[in-house]
Amino acid sequence: MSLPDRNNPYSFNEFLEWRKTVDYYADDPFIQKVVAHYTGRDRDEVDAAARDISLKASFRWRDMADSIAWPEKRPWMMHYDGHGNRIDRIVRPDETMTMEKEIFGERLFAAGDTEWVKLIRMFIIYQNGEACIACPVTCTEGLVKLLEKYADTPETRRILDHCRDGFEDDVAIGAQYLSEIQGGSDVPANVLEAVQDGDTWRLYGTKFFCSATHADYAVVTAKPRGSEKVALFVMPSWLPGDKEREKRNSFTIDRIKWKMGTSELTTGEITFNGSVAYPVGPLDRGVANVVGIVLTYSRLTVGLSAAAFMTRAVREAKKYSEFRDAFGITIGNFPLVRAQIEEIDNFTKRTTAGAFRLYSEFLSLPGGLKGGLVTDEPPETRRKRFEVRELIMLQKITASWDCTDVIRRAMSIFGGHGVMEDFSCLPRLYRDSAINELWEGPRNVLLTQMHNDFKRASEWYPPGEFISSILKGSDPGLVEEISQEFEELVAHPDLFRGDEATLDVCRRWDRLCHRICHIYQDCALAEVEGLVPAGMEE
Ligand SMILES: Cc1cc2nc3c(=O)[nH]c(=O)nc-3n(C[C@H](O)[C@H](O)[C@H](O)COP(=O)(O)OP(=O)(O)OC[C@H]3O[C@@H](n4cnc5c(N)ncnc54)[C@H](O)[C@@H]3O)c2cc1C
Repeated sequence: MSLPDRNNPYSFNEFLEWRKTVDYYADDPFIQKVVAHYTGRDRDEVDAAARDISLKASFRWRDMADSIAWPEKRPWMMHYDGHGNRIDRIVRPDETMTMEKEIFGERLFAAGDTEWVKLIRMFIIYQNGEACIACPVTCTEGLVKLLEKYADTPETRRILDHCRDGFEDDVAIGAQYLSEIQGGSDVPANVLEAVQDGDTWRLYGTKFFCSATHADYAVVTAKPRGSEKVALFVMPSWLPGDKEREKRNSFTIDRIKWKMGTSELTTGEITFNGSVAYPVGPLDRGVANVVGIVLTYSRLTVGLSAAAFMTRAVREAKKYSEFRDAFGITIGNFPLVRAQIEEIDNFTKRTTAGAFRLYSEFLSLPGGLKGGLVTDEPPETRRKRFEVRELIMLQKITASWDCTDVIRRAMSIFGGHGVMEDFSCLPRLYRDSAINELWEGPRNVLLTQMHNDFKRASEWYPPGEFISSILKGSDPGLVEEISQEFEELVAHPDLFRGDEATLDVCRRWDRLCHRICHIYQDCALAEVEGLVPAGMEE
């Protein structure tokens, strides 16, 4: 019975009280199981680090991330100061600056910490969405890894120290500027020019997508004058002593973009006019190093952050379904709602388990990362390296795609409240997730790259054997079926022809790659649920 009541007593307080007290790690038995399964001998250390950072991320940083998402707090550009000096200051709210200082102050990439500690800390921080943190954290990681391999001058070694361990309480932030106006996917077609002037290299030209524009250093792709090969450089945003004076390193931030997601972070368009930059790695290996090192880390992070975004969204949707009533029934008791919750929960768990399993395979690569399809190693190592390379791309396209879907479906559990930006963080996570699909290699580019890779590698790694190896543990009938279709599609000459046969191959390739990644993730999930402690058998 429902009689009129002019003082409608309804409130969301019970749900909000729960939400206020959730600890992202301590209250999530599944992620604890994942950690216990994949982190081997490091598990106690990883568990302790997770509990520690979760106390900050789940409460203080969560509130800061929510607060800076308000439209009136969006960052904006101040091109000139009051005395006519060009400064291109990115003006951001105090909360952003404070949270950034605290998170970078955690020294996520400090020398000596285990990779698993870093990974779990990132997973927990990413549950707060982009928040002007996720992208710069990943970019800094890529920069650190690049410099750990190539820093060989006082300048580059200093940048490495600054990003990794920091100077006193100042830990530097990295960015990566590759994309140009004519195209972001085709890095070899970059035209930004690098000119050697005595011992100094200087950059000239433009970049069209420069996120984390407030960063201290950026990895920049450019062609040395007269060369057709892209080289990699690290460019300080300010030369020593200039940051305080806000005198940028001979570049201007021409404008910042108005974008749908990751809105708390700026993406700028930049003109370089003689910016000092330091070469990293051989000048003719820029593309191999940027893809093989920098983008590898970013793509792994996209998979991890997709799992983190889903975890947060699904946790809140699930709880809401236990709180909200409609037609006198708690909505989670409607079989339709329950089935949807179960499905998105399963997507979240498979994505999380898959991300950790892939990371464990990544960590097992002998000698760490190498750019390109390396050919001078023993066959087993070469195959393992190839598997990880392709799985990173498979995960990037699948996890980012699923994430947007899962969050949209989680939003629908909230009904109309699902799209209200001031009701929950789900709309923000949804917008951020749409960006994750695009940057660090959009879907079609990676699908094409994988097709090319499998063709090139098929002599020493037949596609069917690849499938059997990465899907080991799955139903043999299913593996056989997938292997056959995979071999057939890889045998197609390329994905560039305009004929019907190629269109058909493209449709099937897109679907099949997605499916393969799901099966890989399902194997990981089964492993986690079966609780076979990886790495602890001996
Ligand atoms: C919010 C945001 C922030 C960004 N920040 C940065 C940044 O900080 N640094 C940076 O360097 N870049 C950044 N990017 C750029 C991003 O990496 C590029 O947008 C991306 O690489 C694609 O480039 P493009 O936009 O020029 O698309 P294009 O290269 O023009 O591609 C357009 C379409 O064509 C498809 N396509 C292209 N090539 C192929 C192919 N060979 N086969 C099949 N299909 C193909 C693509 O999949 C896509 O669907 C950012 C992008 C966004 C959205």
